Amino acid sequence: MTPGPEAVDDQLLESARWRLLATSEAEDARAFGDEFIPVETSFAGTGQPLWDAWGSAFTARARLFDSDSDGAAQAVAVSRAALERCPPSAERALALAYLAHVEVAADRFDAAMHLAVDASLLADQVSGEEPTRALHQAHHWLSLALTRLDLEELAAAQSLRGSRVAQALPDLADRWLLLRLCAQQHAELAQTVHRRGEDARSGELAEVALACAMSARELPYAPAEADEDLLAIVTAWAMVLSGQLEEALTPLRRVRGRVEADGGLWLLGYADLVLARLLFRLCERDAGREAATGHPRAPGVTGAPGEEAADLLVGAAGAFAAVGDRRRYRQCLLELGQATAVMGRTAEALHWLEAYRTETTRAHLRGRELWAEMFVRRSRLREAERQTAVLRRHALEDPLTSLGNRRSAERRMAELDFEGGPVSLAVVDIDGFKAVNDAHSHLHGDAVLRQVAELLRQHSRTGDEVYRWAGDEFLVLLPATAEPQAVVAMERLRIAVAEADWAALEVTDPVTVSIGVATAAPDGVGSPRSWRALFDFADLHLFGAKRGGRNRVRATSAGPSTSLPAGPTSPLRASVDDLVAEVLGSQAARPPGWAFDDGEVAS
Ligand code: GH3
Ligand code: MG
Repeated sequence: MTPGPEAVDDQLLESARWRLLATSEAEDARAFGDEFIPVETSFAGTGQPLWDAWGSAFTARARLFDSDSDGAAQAVAVSRAALERCPPSAERALALAYLAHVEVAADRFDAAMHLAVDASLLADQVSGEEPTRALHQAHHWLSLALTRLDLEELAAAQSLRGSRVAQALPDLADRWLLLRLCAQQHAELAQTVHRRGEDARSGELAEVALACAMSARELPYAPAEADEDLLAIVTAWAMVLSGQLEEALTPLRRVRGRVEADGGLWLLGYADLVLARLLFRLCERDAGREAATGHPRAPGVTGAPGEEAADLLVGAAGAFAAVGDRRRYRQCLLELGQATAVMGRTAEALHWLEAYRTETTRAHLRGRELWAEMFVRRSRLREAERQTAVLRRHALEDPLTSLGNRRSAERRMAELDFEGGPVSLAVVDIDGFKAVNDAHSHLHGDAVLRQVAELLRQHSRTGDEVYRWAGDEFLVLLPATAEPQAVVAMERLRIAVAEADWAALEVTDPVTVSIGVATAAPDGVGSPRSWRALFDFADLHLFGAKRGGRNRVRATSAGPSTSLPAGPTSPLRASVDDLVAEVLGSQAARPPGWAFDDGEVAS
């Protein structure tokens, strides 16, 4: 099949989308602009909500690169609205995760949290489906957003999930990148946990980081130099956290030298930060040893490694501030304050800690624990909401046809207002359906039921409601509809079924339906006053339609395929009992307008 222009557009937009995600992650404003400007209008021109959403999401990112925070917020809102029109899918989860990342970059933590919760629930919801690049990227971007929200535990968990999804995908680059991210986030988490004094857990996390790094290295894939350097730094760091200090030092110095020569500013900051931490650890360890041997060094003197480490941290802080990585900038300030305090440089320590405090109150309106708790609580609430919706659906929906089931039909009919205006009800039954099951199979029978349900739904008027009542029997509720209109509407359904193409379902005989219609009119004498009575009338007319030869519509008065014209004098029956008595022939006089043909019932 030759792809149409739309398919080509989709492919074009899809590859542009992946490139834009890559440049967003690299925080490369120029590369992002170069990619986005040529395709900006294409995203908006497809009429598809998903591409609309991406167009606005990238617009939001572009606004942020231009420091236009309000413009970004507006574009995020437009993107979210477009996503509401997309089905729940990994694609939608990915877009939500990306928006969360945009919002956190704009310091809108509440909005970012909400988006991250929605994205993670959706990713969970679709996790049983076939693994896709969209799903693994959804985990990836969630992980990045959660990291920036300082929810490191949740971020590490998302990256682990992402790397599991990636394992099932053919793309080695994707797998490699997620393993690298996973290693990095576990190493970062190990550092945080270590700072809290949980050394055993920190060691375990460092081992996970090392294992991920190892798996990445074993893939037959050659990453870009910067990616490889980052992995080398992460590996060294994980080694430090698992206690292999000396072993980590040489490779770390080597990669730092390489990055200093021709790596980016952020990467150099990262290498500096890690090397500084390693040097401080070495100082601490040596100080501990000296104390144990009874030769403590003079207070405030931690030797050359301490000085070098402090210089590296200053360099790292500058690099992170310059590229806008405020989270790591904050970390550097804190660690500088702590390190210089240990070194006895009190005034300097105060300076760094004051800077840290200012930065923290600006960026962190709430503590990390609060966020974490909120995330979990909101996730639980949303999950409970989702479960309730699923249960409600199970309770009220027919699983075979997805129509409302008998319970929902009864519930709906119980709400009907019989005094307000006319209301009609039709009972639709497939003709000779047992034969379909017998001649073909039950599965064929099911397929026929689904198709009939779909035809009824498609050809019903707006506002009419279709339910599966039982077996091969359906109900159509026609609110505010008098009988003649109801008969016309049902005749249309009958024809739609009779003329449908049944060959595709390998059913030899054409499928037809018989339909009985009843109407309750507030001013009608003897008109049904309850839904049960209304149903009984319609069911009796269905019976008449079957007896009349099937594939027809029957009602109290004439309709297109009822055979007797409606007389203006046609009286309404007082009750179903009257009707039954009449059908069974105990009443001699059959009033004109009665839909059953002579002899067909009495015989
Ligand atoms: P009639 O024209 O008089 O309606 O004849 P019929 O053969 O359609 O008779 P009836 O409506 O009584 O038959 C309903 C059949 O539908 C009986 C039952 O085996 C079958 N059936 C009920 N539920 C299902 C279902 O979920 N799937 C399938 N495949 N068959 C069903
Ligand atoms: Mg039937």
